Amino acid sequence: MRIYIQTDIEGVAGFCFFENRRIESLENHAHRQRMYRLLTNEVNAAVKAAFDSGAAEVLVNDSHGSGYNIIFEDLDPRCRIIHGRNTSGPQWLNLLDKNIDAMVLIGMHAMGGTENSITPHSLWKVNDGQFHMSEASMAAAIAGDSGVPTVFISGDDKVTAEVAGKIPGIQTAVVKEALSAYMACSLIPARACQLIYEGVKRGIALRKKIAPYKVPGPIDLALLDSPDHSLPFSVLCEVKNSPSMLQAFNDCEDQTPWYKRNICLPDGFVFPPTPENRK
Ligand SMILES: [Zn+2]
Repeated sequence: MRIYIQTDIEGVAGFCFFENRRIESLENHAHRQRMYRLLTNEVNAAVKAAFDSGAAEVLVNDSHGSGYNIIFEDLDPRCRIIHGRNTSGPQWLNLLDKNIDAMVLIGMHAMGGTENSITPHSLWKVNDGQFHMSEASMAAAIAGDSGVPTVFISGDDKVTAEVAGKIPGIQTAVVKEALSAYMACSLIPARACQLIYEGVKRGIALRKKIAPYKVPGPIDLALLDSPDHSLPFSVLCEVKNSPSMLQAFNDCEDQTPWYKRNICLPDGFVFPPTPENRK
């Protein structure tokens, strides 16, 4: 059995405002390291649950921001981690294919515009507003295209409710109750990890009963957001009439500025490092 663990950081217990990679203060540095530690511990709880459920292979995808957040030297040595730069577009869910038996979502945040949710951003509009998706349900839909069920999600009460409404039977761990975009009533990390461990075990046990989340084509898809993630949003990319969610997602991401090569990422990383793109 092969388990794929997709991760983000905003939905981790204790996380309640956006990561800021530009501020160089010691306080910000220490805070970021602390959030990475909390994320790593939650991921480890999920990894252990997967192996304790009989997994032969566990792949962890480090998917937030820089794609280099999880303190991987502290992860359970039985798993492997996908991490590094350029986590958008076709690289977003690398190595996720039909050979994966179940996907697990750790640290998820609500879609853009969700009231009283921790740092909501990215609003995927499907079929001209027929319904909307978070990054979490987008990941589930892409997995669904390959026939892979999403069996577990952790995050705040809003994103877990959204995804549970789309995927009957998915197991959840609500690690914090969001009180505003930047305030939560959170579980203490040790308790959050315990709920994640138990929930991932339940989800993997139910994997054959939880249907892959499939959004049938043709699909119209648009990504809405704003620079500070607050309303009003504008359309960042849009595609029409795509045969599948995976195709729609990749074609949409192709249009976004952060997908392009040669960009200078927020933390100053430049690829490739030519004099021209150093400007
Ligand atoms: Zn994130």
